[in-house]
Amino acid sequence: AFQALVVNKREDMFAVSLQEMSFAELPEGEVLIRVMYSSVNYKDGLAADPNGRIVRSYPFVPGIDLAGIVESSEDSRFAKGDQVLVTGYDMGVSHFGGFSQFARVRADWVVPLPEALTLKAAMVFGTAGFTAALSIHKLEQNGIRPEKGTILVTGATGGVGSMAVAMLAKRGYHVAASTGKTEEHAYLQNLGAKEILHRTEVSPESFRPLDKQRWAAAVDPVGGRTLAYILSTTQYGGSVAVSGLTGGTDVPTTVFPFILRGINLLGIDSVYCPMDIRMQVWNQMANEWKPETLLQEIGQEIPLEQLPNVLPEILKGNVRGRTIVNVGER
Ligand code: NAP
Repeated sequence: AFQALVVNKREDMFAVSLQEMSFAELPEGEVLIRVMYSSVNYKDGLAADPNGRIVRSYPFVPGIDLAGIVESSEDSRFAKGDQVLVTGYDMGVSHFGGFSQFARVRADWVVPLPEALTLKAAMVFGTAGFTAALSIHKLEQNGIRPEKGTILVTGATGGVGSMAVAMLAKRGYHVAASTGKTEEHAYLQNLGAKEILHRTEVSPESFRPLDKQRWAAAVDPVGGRTLAYILSTTQYGGSVAVSGLTGGTDVPTTVFPFILRGINLLGIDSVYCPMDIRMQVWNQMANEWKPETLLQEIGQEIPLEQLPNVLPEILKGNVRGRTIVNVGER
């Protein structure tokens, strides 16, 4: 038996607690992994919330990220002792996830740990870091370069935001960071932000369909009205990578930024991102994009036992940086 965080829901009962589990309870898959680290993402907060509408059936083990060591594999691509990571796919949503000392997953979901990364560093990045890196990757595919101008990062103290600020700064970009946390300006400057704006400045009461051009590009995990404002203020030919919805799902925009300024709206999905791009981006994160000295500042470690207290906090937008979960490294 081993320990896992189990979410359970019945008529009038909802519970999130550590429980003993047996290997027979794990879902089907070719690769059994001894989990060393996991991490906390916004989606994990939803999975552990009675109104989260993420989990399809209970009892359930959340955790959309894991890094660990292969215990056994029925797939020839992996062998006992291999260090691996898994993010996204059905894991933590409809397939038991990483908040567990063991996980059994599909071999097609498994990424070999890049040589230059530790299991722990892989989880400081996690889905949030991968999403930030995928956003930068797509912006660069669309011609964005440091000399083009300022890059705006929204929700900058969050998981996706912090990783985007740090990696963009490492790549030589001039980063403007928007945040609702006035007490975290020093944190953002330390990650490499050159300008800091208040969250309300990028979601004003009123703005014109084509407003003053302020940014060459943006990494936007906030969405909603903020995304509409960004589209109206991005420079001619610029690109906006949207990945999230902490600011809402409705985007009150017009066609004008697209048809009069040639703005590109780039959709970012980390969950089903194809394996070839996934490996390429993880290798960039592990090497030339890695904000090595900052990983410690961005990642705060907690034990599995603290998850029931920490998970509700991410839904309130209170969390700074990344929370990594020490599952097996004791
Ligand atoms: P997170 O750590 O909680 O970060 C979200 C940040 O957004 C907060 O820290 C806060 O930053 C800001 N924020 C919170 N409430 C806000 C509001 N009402 N209006 C504007 N900004 C607000 O979450 P995360 O894990 O980085 O995820 C961020 C978003 O990206 C979520 O919507 C998540 O579902 C999405 N996501 C999508 C993908 C994908 O594949 N597309 C992958 C990962 C995450 P400040 O206080 O600094 O403003």
